[in-house]
Amino acid sequence: MTYEPDAIVVGAGLSGLVAASELLDAGRRVTIVEQEPSASFGGQAWWSFGGLFLIDSPEQRRMGVRDSLALARDDWFGTAGFDRPEDLWPRQWAEAYLQFASGEKRAWLHEKGVRFFPVVGWAERGDGRAGGHGNSVPRFHITWGTGPGVVEPFARRVQSAAANGRAAVRNRHRVDELIVEDGRVAGVRGVVLAPDSAGRGAPSNREVVGDFELRAPVVIVASGGIGGNHDLVRAAWPARLGEPPAHMLSGVPAHVDGRMLGIAETAGARLINGDRMWHYTEGIQNWDPVWERHGIRILPGPSSLWLDARGDRLPSPLYPGFDTLGTLEHLRRTGFDYSWFVLTQKIIEKEFALSGSEQNPDLTGKDVRLLAKRVAPGAPGPVEAFKEKGADFVVADTLDELLAGMQRLAEVPLDTELVARHVRERDRQLDNEFGKDLQLAAVRSARKYRGDRLIRVASPHKLLDPAAGPLIAVKLHILTRKSLGGIETDLDGRVLGADGAPLPGLFAVGEAAGFGGGGMHGYRALEGTFLGGCLFSGRQAGRAAARA
Ligand SMILES: Cc1cc2nc3c(=O)[nH]c(=O)nc-3n(C[C@H](O)[C@H](O)[C@H](O)COP(=O)(O)OP(=O)(O)OC[C@H]3O[C@@H](n4cnc5c(N)ncnc54)[C@H](O)[C@@H]3O)c2cc1C
Repeated sequence: MTYEPDAIVVGAGLSGLVAASELLDAGRRVTIVEQEPSASFGGQAWWSFGGLFLIDSPEQRRMGVRDSLALARDDWFGTAGFDRPEDLWPRQWAEAYLQFASGEKRAWLHEKGVRFFPVVGWAERGDGRAGGHGNSVPRFHITWGTGPGVVEPFARRVQSAAANGRAAVRNRHRVDELIVEDGRVAGVRGVVLAPDSAGRGAPSNREVVGDFELRAPVVIVASGGIGGNHDLVRAAWPARLGEPPAHMLSGVPAHVDGRMLGIAETAGARLINGDRMWHYTEGIQNWDPVWERHGIRILPGPSSLWLDARGDRLPSPLYPGFDTLGTLEHLRRTGFDYSWFVLTQKIIEKEFALSGSEQNPDLTGKDVRLLAKRVAPGAPGPVEAFKEKGADFVVADTLDELLAGMQRLAEVPLDTELVARHVRERDRQLDNEFGKDLQLAAVRSARKYRGDRLIRVASPHKLLDPAAGPLIAVKLHILTRKSLGGIETDLDGRVLGADGAPLPGLFAVGEAAGFGGGGMHGYRALEGTFLGGCLFSGRQAGRAAARA
């Protein structure tokens, strides 16, 4: 190979593309090595919903949201719960990221052509404590064009450099080793995998047809997390979240295999906070799967009644969309790998969004006419398709029929009398416009936010009101997604060794680096912060590597 790059980037996901773009902008030559075929260019981010965390944006202000860096900082640190010596760098990354999200982030993206849907979403509404977990205000800005819209400017930058001979993308090149010489990382070694015509996100073969070695003064690890490898997820599962589930769906393609983390560790990198992970409890089996065990996450509004596998209602404030890990922890204590939503047609129409670019053709395709249907009666097409074809949905005209359908999908006996009691008790609370049910109070409060009232939160109604029907039950599975820990780095993205000193020549970005520092989220996340973490860490490391 004659090409002599200034930097090698391992992984053509968002974080790798951002780092490469920064290096190219600084006049450096970059080679990206990527184990998957070119069809999967852009990695997980292409599949993503494209939700980005911004603080005090014009979009928020137009929706009447008053946000500030101080409020977001309270929210972030209350959510992260940093409590370990290893949080030294993650804390600094969190602070730097908050500054970025309230400062340059939007203008930087805007300049690259990225635009946002005007209604800001309210993800992770929290655990009910002002100083605790959660977003005090809506901050989830959906990119116009969703995940592909976030990837596009960086993909374009790399592809145009490749056309000019300043960048090279080597697909089917899997890194198996970091070359360490005289105490510095000097390149990568690995194998060339056989060509594969697999479509985007689909698993590709691992047949080895050759090997390769590439050298450069800088190597940037941008290899993603561990969510596609359930064995690694279970091995890292923390005791505080109970027993690891026996059955999980995959919210990420198989290439999110975590192998590169061990390879970086062998080269001297320190891995921290591997027990911190972000998995969802509202996963449904994809009726049209792209990868094995492919699950889709429902981004739920707050109105569905949430029941455990036996039929008992989840305690306050574990309502849909409030506290992802609090809910996961509670459900693990019940000992079962699934739970239930019970809702109405009226709720599904307004409150079910599905995470993923392919599940939102209107936003992904920037199709205004299709988008207008979101405010029209009826559920969005992809949601309706799941309702009709999804293995986890029960639709019924009466409560008895619904309970019979739920029993058919249940893996452990469902206490149908208990479910019926919860439904009736909840419905009686709607005889007045006030009452003691805290979930209904939260629904009423959410509707004070214009965005929720407009497209996200159904007006409170009785589940057994035939006018709101039919009744719907959804069996929800645990869905693997993000790794919150990873390779420890300083604020320049330089990888740190066991002694805390930088390992010369090596940088890490994106999910592989816990989105910055080895875990800038701490224990929990505010959402929209993963793509943002890839953007920010890729930018930091790309710029620092260009100076190296
Ligand atoms: C459906 C879905 C929806 C999401 N929605 C959102 C959202 O709305 N907001 C948000 O903030 N986040 C969201 N996320 C999360 C976000 O997309 C990811 O965390 C982020 O894209 C990770 O990017 P990355 O560059 O770190 O890693 P990846 O995208 O995983 O890319 C890593 C690349 O490295 C390659 N690689 C790995 N090991 C090797 C090796 N040894 N040799 C060569 N190549 C290797 C992989 O094949 C892969 O292409 C979503 C994710 C999914 C899947």
